[in-house]
Amino acid sequence: MFAALLVAIQSDALSLKLQAVDPARLRATVTHLSSYPTRNSLSKEVHQAAAWLADEYRAIPGLEVELMEYTLPQGRRVPQPTPCVQVVATLKGSSPETIIIGAHLDSLNLSVAPTEGPAPGANDDASGVALTLELARQLAGTQPRRTIKFVAFTGEEQGLLGATALAQRAKDENWPLVAMLNNDTVGSSRNLGGQENTKQVRVFSEEGENHDSRELARFIEWTVRQAVDDFTVKLVLRRDRFGRGGDHTPFVLQGFSAVRFIEVHEEFKHQHTPDDLVQHMDFDYLANVTRANLAAVWSLAHALPAPTKVTLVRDQTHDTTLTWEGEPGVPYTVYWRDTASAEWQGSMAVGEVERATVPLVNKDDHIFAVGAAGGVPVLAE
Ligand SMILES: [Zn+2]
Repeated sequence: MFAALLVAIQSDALSLKLQAVDPARLRATVTHLSSYPTRNSLSKEVHQAAAWLADEYRAIPGLEVELMEYTLPQGRRVPQPTPCVQVVATLKGSSPETIIIGAHLDSLNLSVAPTEGPAPGANDDASGVALTLELARQLAGTQPRRTIKFVAFTGEEQGLLGATALAQRAKDENWPLVAMLNNDTVGSSRNLGGQENTKQVRVFSEEGENHDSRELARFIEWTVRQAVDDFTVKLVLRRDRFGRGGDHTPFVLQGFSAVRFIEVHEEFKHQHTPDDLVQHMDFDYLANVTRANLAAVWSLAHALPAPTKVTLVRDQTHDTTLTWEGEPGVPYTVYWRDTASAEWQGSMAVGEVERATVPLVNKDDHIFAVGAAGGVPVLAE
């Protein structure tokens, strides 16, 4: 099945990149970012942190780096409109189709004034910023088909303001954005209640069984299961945690596919306090979350165009036949799962065809889809 996934996407190269993900480098980034007294979006330090991060991206060959200026609008945690910046680093692909991988650079300590510290924000969310930077280092020079944008959002803690500004810009400028992956609080494997999970990361996706974001989450779960050793995705079939939000949602609201990665057992007592510190984190775990993202982005970035008009053939047999419209030179994979399963359970690489039969898997109890090898499956109707 591994070979089937990676027909179009150089499995050996991905394996090397997965091995090269470096926990020490992740720790160094988080340690630096959490050393600012605060990275509150209203502070001068958030500008310093953004400038430092932009320089880190500029040191990676092949990236175009932008400090995107925008204004935090007045609101609950913004007393007056305030200029802010966020970092957008672009690795151009041969296609304008775009993937965003992002995390939020800003931090929060609700018990002090916005311009005061300490607000180390090591796990929330220097962890995600470090992951995103590491992905850029691993993906630079790999000549992806799709363009990849590595984003460090600000204004998250004031109401997803930076993500809202970028999602609006993506909409206004008609970006062909095919997926947005948000990593927020991904660097700790246990909570103070004694619960621990070093082997999984949660991926939240939009309500709605057939929502594009849900299909993206399913695809990520499947890809990580195939490509990453001893680490899997726990799908959570909700937009976000109870009463909470994240930077993926503004993109969903603009009509894009977007999901959120987060550790399984977050510790609420550390969040938005002086205790969100490096010493509470697990960098081997963060490295595995990074590998999960790398496998997903790699696959998304190299996948060929998705099929259209994926259709189940109406016949009364024990087999299931599907047809679709494809493009020459694109190998396809058929997927299926039981109607009660959230995850793809079976797959079959079928090559450069527009019709395939899955023997002895019936169309009454299963949901079927077809994808370009390595790409998000398209549901059959
Ligand atoms: Zn956060």
